[in-house]
Amino acid sequence: MILPIVAYGDAVLKKKAKDITKDYPNFEGLLENMFETMYNAYGVGLAAPQIGLPIRLFLVDTTPFSEDEDLSKEEQKALNGFKRVFINAQIVEEDGDEWAFNEGCLSIPDVREDVFRKPNITIEYLDENFNAQKESFDGLIARVIQHEYDHIEGILFTDKLSSLKKRLLKGRLTNISKGKINVDYRMRFPGQKKKR
Ligand SMILES: [Zn+2]
Repeated sequence: MILPIVAYGDAVLKKKAKDITKDYPNFEGLLENMFETMYNAYGVGLAAPQIGLPIRLFLVDTTPFSEDEDLSKEEQKALNGFKRVFINAQIVEEDGDEWAFNEGCLSIPDVREDVFRKPNITIEYLDENFNAQKESFDGLIARVIQHEYDHIEGILFTDKLSSLKKRLLKGRLTNISKGKINVDYRMRFPGQKKKR
């Protein structure tokens, strides 16, 4: 089932999400719905707060990035089929010189901005079977994980922009929260007046 994606301005996107346990109700169904929702919107990642749940869960599938011809063959190969579920994740290490990448977000349609992040991360998490994992990533895979990880910390990529950029974007962000935007996937807008 395709779930509505929560738009910029909803309080759930600002909340630090909570850990979950193995007995989370209908967990398999939730994962299935989240993957379907992400693929339907052509996303490479989706975090639970984006469907209105303040829990530490996000998914990543970087396959669409693997077709980018500016990338090395090696990178393309790493991105192709990289599909993971991250539960109760904690980034335990982040290092290297920050680099810029033009990020977007399914909760903030049509807005793309350069965001600076460190290139290397080590993350501890539970996989979809609730088995503990610890892995290190770099490049675009790390980038997508950092973006989704921020969602479970209540942070959006627009929070990381300069105050000038934020001011310039303000009107567009307000419009998004009111639903004054064309988007070809299901969304839920916090500032939209309810229809009678
Ligand atoms: Zn996002």
